[in-house]
Amino acid sequence: MSHVLAIDQGTTSTRAMVVDSRGRPVAQAQRELPQIFPRPGWVEHDAEEIWRATLDVMRRALGDAGIEARALAAIGITNQRETTVVWERQSGRPIHNAIVWQDRRTTEPCEALQARGLDGLIARKTGLVIDPYFSATKLAWLLDHVDGARAAAKAGQLAFGTIDSFLAWRLSGGAHVTDATNAARTMLFDIHRQDWDDELLGLFDIPRALLPAVVDSAGRAADSATDVLGAAVPIAGIAGDQQAATVGQMCLAPGTIKSTYGTGCFMLLNTGTQAVASRNRLLTTVAYRLGGTPTYAMEGAIFVAGAAIQWLRDGLKLLQSAGQSAALAATADPAAQVYLVPAFAGLGAPYWDARARGAMFGLTRDTGIAEIVRAALEAVCFQTRDLVAAMAADGAAPPVTLRVDGGLTVNDWAMQFLADMLGVPVERPVVTETTAMGAAYLAGMATGVFPGLDGLPRFWQRDRAFTPAMSADERDTRYAGWRDAVRRVRSVVEA
Ligand code: ADP
Repeated sequence: MSHVLAIDQGTTSTRAMVVDSRGRPVAQAQRELPQIFPRPGWVEHDAEEIWRATLDVMRRALGDAGIEARALAAIGITNQRETTVVWERQSGRPIHNAIVWQDRRTTEPCEALQARGLDGLIARKTGLVIDPYFSATKLAWLLDHVDGARAAAKAGQLAFGTIDSFLAWRLSGGAHVTDATNAARTMLFDIHRQDWDDELLGLFDIPRALLPAVVDSAGRAADSATDVLGAAVPIAGIAGDQQAATVGQMCLAPGTIKSTYGTGCFMLLNTGTQAVASRNRLLTTVAYRLGGTPTYAMEGAIFVAGAAIQWLRDGLKLLQSAGQSAALAATADPAAQVYLVPAFAGLGAPYWDARARGAMFGLTRDTGIAEIVRAALEAVCFQTRDLVAAMAADGAAPPVTLRVDGGLTVNDWAMQFLADMLGVPVERPVVTETTAMGAAYLAGMATGVFPGLDGLPRFWQRDRAFTPAMSADERDTRYAGWRDAVRRVRSVVEA
């Protein structure tokens, strides 16, 4: 009973990883998840396919590890957040495709809520800004658009859940649970009282009978049904992907901070038992909940991080591979002052300007591919500094170090520039699968495979630290140039 199985159900793929009691990944399996785009701005997933993929990767990972389910101490689940599923309690069948977090179909109801001046109420209770991103308006949309759904919901025949909840139901054969980190992304959950909120449920006309029980991020939530893996295994850890990565990076003390750089970038700052309300439109969220006590985080999101490199590669064909970008950036003219603002889909935190669009500034006759590639990598770092600055403006102490993970962090050039721009060391771990590792740690912590929080940090190993080397003058001058570039793409002129 010394291994843990982590399920990492992401937006584009489903993975399973077997982790041993020393915190080492011993096997993993992955399957791509087809994206469904019924209309512009709509994004769906087939929840049945998610379940099939989960079964497939779990069984393959166990097979590769040479382990029977009997030898598992626990299963941990981490998942794409906010994505919304409604299913029939009797049959377990989803009534519609899952509506994915990226889906913008509920923009209008969100604007209507804003017009009613509800931002303050929702932020106070949920820590969120009103946006189609979160589950509440997606759930209301399903109840309004699937025939008979609202009546069935009122009669207690339907169940709602984010992906963690749907998987826990399927794994256990009918336990209806979610953890506090996932509940915190629904816009229906009071993060201070740690309960679903009747006023918000009323606002969206959501019957309480739909909702899962909210459990700790580590703790025995249910057991898997024996026919799923061949033995009953405790489902003992659940957390949303960015929160699991926060645990995987051992950002367990107040003031510790991690950033995940994939397609976009998510930064979470652990604020301990204090839920810090942001005046700069950062989110307040639950980092994890243990023994009924939530630990909170501030969160900032950048929409375009690695996606800018993808655009240079696939859109502009300036690169053959993302991996070339580091070497190219290193050859750019150091005196060039080219700025690329990748506001392809508007600007996220702390600007939240949906109508801003991208632009490039400072071009001269000798601007070449290298300068443009460098500007794209620098933009990721400037935006990270924007988030750190917003956190500081909300009263956070400056970070001592930034822990990073995600596909872009293999880029040494970008990581050095990140350290230079922040003026703090940037640390990259040996195991960059921090999301799956976080789920494994939570599940293993609850079942005695791993020690409690205090003992966990020794499992984290540093691959490399990048130390700031740029002068403060140069750092500030370059950052001022970025701020100026952002000002020029804003859709609303700042006073
Ligand atoms: P996601 O989980 O969002 O799909 P990943 O963590 O797999 O993302 O990271 C993929 C992203 O990282 C892509 O957007 C890609 O452009 C970027 N990327 C991968 N390698 C590099 C590199 N060497 N330099 C810069 N960006 C990179």
